[in-house]
Amino acid sequence: MTNQNVSEISKKYIDMADKFGAHNYHPLKVVITKGSGEWVWDIDGKKYLDMLSAYSAVNQGHCHPRMQQTLMEQAQKVTLTSRAFHNDQMGPWLKQLTLLCKKDKALPMNTGAEAVETAIKVARKWGYLVKKVPRHQAEIIVCDHNFHGRTTTIVSFSSEPQYKDDFGPYCGGFRSVPYGDAAALEKAITPNTVGFLFEPIQGEAGIIIPAQGYLEKVSQICKKHNVLCIADEIQTGLGRTGKLFAHLYENCEPDLIILGKALGGAYYPISAVVGNDDILGLLKPGDHGSTFGGNSMACALSQTALSIIEDEKLADRAFKLGNQFREGLAHLPKKVVKEIRGKGLLNGIEIHPEAGKGRFYSELLQERGILAKETHDYTIRFAPPLVMKDESMRFAIDTISEVFAKTQAEWLQKS
Ligand SMILES: *Cc1c(COP(=O)(O)O)cnc(C)c1O
Repeated sequence: MTNQNVSEISKKYIDMADKFGAHNYHPLKVVITKGSGEWVWDIDGKKYLDMLSAYSAVNQGHCHPRMQQTLMEQAQKVTLTSRAFHNDQMGPWLKQLTLLCKKDKALPMNTGAEAVETAIKVARKWGYLVKKVPRHQAEIIVCDHNFHGRTTTIVSFSSEPQYKDDFGPYCGGFRSVPYGDAAALEKAITPNTVGFLFEPIQGEAGIIIPAQGYLEKVSQICKKHNVLCIADEIQTGLGRTGKLFAHLYENCEPDLIILGKALGGAYYPISAVVGNDDILGLLKPGDHGSTFGGNSMACALSQTALSIIEDEKLADRAFKLGNQFREGLAHLPKKVVKEIRGKGLLNGIEIHPEAGKGRFYSELLQERGILAKETHDYTIRFAPPLVMKDESMRFAIDTISEVFAKTQAEWLQKS
C-alpha cells in the first residue's frame, strides 16, 4: 500500500460506507461526486481520468448530454408501467437493438446477471422443446475462469473459490472446460448439451484473449452438434473492443447475445438477451419476467445509449485509441510489466509478481489522476470511456509510463 492521503471530508464518506455498508468491495479511497465524459471529480475537487468506466458500463462517457436530455424528458412523461401493459418506449428500443444485433427478438432485463440467467433458462427450454433432451437433464458448458455474474446459479459454475466457496449448495447442469480450447469444448459435448456460454474476451479473469480462430471454431462446433452458442458480451459488447461486438472479430455467429452494462449509457441498469425467433419465440406468457424489465425509462435511455454508440462511431474510436494505447505503452520496462494486452479499449497490464501488486500501482495512478483497478492481484484493467479525447489518451500514456517506470521496491525506496 502507498500512504494514501485522504482528506477529512473524503474520510467522512468512506467511514460512513464502511460502517453502514457490507464490505463486499475493496474500493480505492476516492469519493467521486461529479463526472463528465471521461473525467470524474472527487469531493475535494481533484480531477481524474476514469479508466475503469464502471467495468465498461460507461462507454458513452459520464453524463452524456443526450442521455441527460432523454432522462429529463422521459422523467416527465412516465417511467414504469410493468409488462402488464405496453409502453411506447419498449417497442422502438427492441427494434433498434435487434437491428443492431441482426437478430429477430430481444428480451429485456435489468442487470447483467439477470440476462445471463435468462439465457440459461431459454437455452434449457430450447433443449427440452426443440432438441428433445430428457426433462431436467440439460447441460450447459462454460469456461474455466468465467465471469457471468453473482447469482447462486451463476456462482455454481464459477471456478473462482471466493465467488462460490461459502455460497453452496450449487445448482447443477453445468460443466467447465478450459477457455480458448475448442477441442476441449467439442469433447465435453454430450447428447444433453444445450448450450455453450462464453465471453469473447474474459474480462474479470484478467483480459484473457483467446487465440485467433477460437471464436469461429466455437461457432462451428456448436452448429455441428446442435448446441446453442451463447456469447456473453456484457463487458465486451457495444463498441468496447473496437467492434460493435467482440465476436465480430471472427466469423462467429452466436445464437444468443447477452448484453448489459453500456446498454444503459451509464444512466440506468438495463440488460437483454438477443436471439432469433426459433429460440426466444419459445417463451410463453408467464415463463419468465421482471417487474422493471423493459420499463419506459430504461428503454428510452437505452435507445439514446445505442444511438450515441452509432452516431459517434464509438467502436471505431475504441479501435483507434486502443492501438494508440498499446503502442504508446509498448516500451514499458520488461522487469515491471509482463504483458500488455487488449482489444480496442479493453486492456490489461500484467505486472511481474516481483515488481509488486496491482493494487500498489492502482494507488500510484490514483495519486497522479488516473482511476484504474486491479483485477486479481497482478493485472490492472484499463477501460476508459470510448468518448475519450485524443489529449486524454496522451495524458493516460504519459502518466501510466511514469508510474510503471519503477518497481514497487524502487517507488518505496524513493519515498
Ligand atoms: C459485469 C458482467 C456480468 C454481470 O453483470 P451485472 O450487471 O453486474 O450483474 C456478467 N458477465 C460479464 C462478462 C460481465 O462483465
